Amino acid sequence: MEYSLDTDLRYLKGVGEKRAALYGRLGVFTLGDLLRHYPREYLDYSHPEPISAAPFGETCAVRARLVSKSGEQRIRKGLSLFKALATDDTDDLYLTFFHAKYTVAQLKEEEEYIFYGRMEGKFTHREMTAPLVLSPQGEEAFFPIYPLTEGLSSRAVSASVRQALTLLQGHIGETLPPQLLARFELCGLEEALRDVHFPPSQQALDRARRRLMFEELFTLSLALSQLKSNSHRQTGAPMSPVELSGFLGLLPFSLTGAQRRAIEETCADLTRPSPMNRLIQGDVGSGKTMVAAAAIWFAAQNGYQSALMVPTEILAEQHYATLARLFHGSGLSVALLTGSMPLREKKLARERLAAGETSLVIGTHALIQEEVAFSRLGLVVTDEQHRFGVAQRTALSQKGSAPHVLVLSATPIPRTLAFIVYGDLDVSVIDELPAGRLPVKTYLIDPAKRQRACGFIRKYLDEGRQAYIVCPLVEQTEESDPGLLAAEEYAEKLAAREFSGYRVGVLHGRMKSAEKDRVMRRFAAGEIQLLVATTVIEVGVDVPNAVVMMIENAERFGLSQLHQLRGRVGRGDVQSHCILVSQSAAPRLRAICRTTDGFAIAEEDLKLRGPGDFFGTRQHGLPLLKIADMAGDVALVKTTQEAAQWLLKEDPSLSRPENRPLGAEVERMLSQVSAG
Ligand code: ADP
Ligand code: MG
Repeated sequence: MEYSLDTDLRYLKGVGEKRAALYGRLGVFTLGDLLRHYPREYLDYSHPEPISAAPFGETCAVRARLVSKSGEQRIRKGLSLFKALATDDTDDLYLTFFHAKYTVAQLKEEEEYIFYGRMEGKFTHREMTAPLVLSPQGEEAFFPIYPLTEGLSSRAVSASVRQALTLLQGHIGETLPPQLLARFELCGLEEALRDVHFPPSQQALDRARRRLMFEELFTLSLALSQLKSNSHRQTGAPMSPVELSGFLGLLPFSLTGAQRRAIEETCADLTRPSPMNRLIQGDVGSGKTMVAAAAIWFAAQNGYQSALMVPTEILAEQHYATLARLFHGSGLSVALLTGSMPLREKKLARERLAAGETSLVIGTHALIQEEVAFSRLGLVVTDEQHRFGVAQRTALSQKGSAPHVLVLSATPIPRTLAFIVYGDLDVSVIDELPAGRLPVKTYLIDPAKRQRACGFIRKYLDEGRQAYIVCPLVEQTEESDPGLLAAEEYAEKLAAREFSGYRVGVLHGRMKSAEKDRVMRRFAAGEIQLLVATTVIEVGVDVPNAVVMMIENAERFGLSQLHQLRGRVGRGDVQSHCILVSQSAAPRLRAICRTTDGFAIAEEDLKLRGPGDFFGTRQHGLPLLKIADMAGDVALVKTTQEAAQWLLKEDPSLSRPENRPLGAEVERMLSQVSAG
């Protein structure tokens, strides 16, 4: 029979129903899937050590001749072991194998093998337990270790891969057009697949990986460009240009240059025939809300309603307060719609919305519920977009007929990655803070210095300022780490001791929304001086009179999260301070003391945590990349983007014969994106 990449895995020898089911768990169903199931790492046995020189306690490879092997010894029911002895003339090596009947049966006395494992024992007696045994024949010097599932071993996978490579020899089509291979000096697909599983040298491995990463990022770039051009349909909310002076007159301050640019770009989008898809990216405190407000005002002048969706009720209420005040007397009517509002109020808000009496509705995900209908929805804004999946954004858009979409995000994504992460969005960056803002001073202190820090905070409270203390937990439970501070308990302690006589409040995610609201209002009104809180305050809350923040157990928070938290202070024109309390002096904590540049912090965070964690599991709805590590390959990301633009210019529909296989790959990736 003819084998192809689409051939079912069960055609391989040794792969029956049972094993096929195990492979299924790894998403491997065909020979093609198997070849794309890349090794996670490699054991390098290219430089075996003499037995006598191998360091104790370390994993190493030795090349030795088998001297003797024992028969099976049963220790107890279900556990059998074998002993063997090998030598390389520098020393003897005692080997123990468990449950390895098959492996040991294959071993022949007087033959040479590579034994890979941890060297144990003492000077006079060296031993290895359950080593990996490899035959030194062939040129390979790396043994592939695969992402596995229980019941499958790397040895079994590598045997299947070897079989598949043999069966498919000469049948693995090339996906990249020849001019591209030549231009970027990439090796062919068949060679790359062979070498990525069984690299004869480090050089060959690097070459194979580069080719496969290139292909993956390149296909992704093409797929995202496709998404972007697909969105070039007609908007259901066509708008005409409007003079912005009416909006500017509502503002209590003048806009920064960066805000003005972002507003110009946004309003220009709104007058185009296709729906806007724009991301406003700006650090905490950069004033993104006003860009949204401008767009909302612009839409209202054109007779359209807007929806502003935010991830938390507190933030919804705060935006409501800000925008209702801003638009007061401007003819725009603003409404709030959250899950915890009384049913009667909700019903009324929905009715007014459906009747077109409301120009702007602000709410949480309650907005995407089915009963909510708009009369003329023209603009959808989502704030702090990393909390929303692409799916939620789309659900809200479907309530209008192809409305314009504006996304606000305070998570600075390194510029090179923004295109990939936000895919189909155009990006405006607000890279300037309102005038007079002073960067927050940040310190890292040992818990022993906490008393002094509390004294420092009291000094500010005495001057009429406010402060936050952030802790990682809501309350201590049996499971939680006893070293961590919990908001409830800690607030009580602080109110009784360090801050007795001060008005201390507590805020956390497990409080009822009405209660949270009450606390936030009291804090905003200055009735609460010190707010002890969990990360619920991370998103968006704005109290400019709060000028000091102390973060307990700072090591528990991610860098980007610390940066977001810190953004709650420094929002006025007073010098603000952020005190990180931690026993750990981890470099990342020191890094955040040094810089307030969100981009630099994001870059650092990305490096430390990898793109998977950084963006949250699949929150961004992108396909999981199999081989490319976006953080490490920024240069390659850029190269592939440029190459994709170039190819699309030459052949926009990828319909030339040499580009068709690539077109198929792009389709495949797009189907993953929409499923994700
Ligand atoms: P973020 O980008 O974090 O959402 P906000 O929109 O909440 O920032 O703005 C932060 C604070 O700065 C708010 O109190 C807002 O009123 C104020 N602000 C926004 N733009 C300006 C400006 N151009 N000049 C002075 N203050 C501004
Ligand atoms: Mg905001």
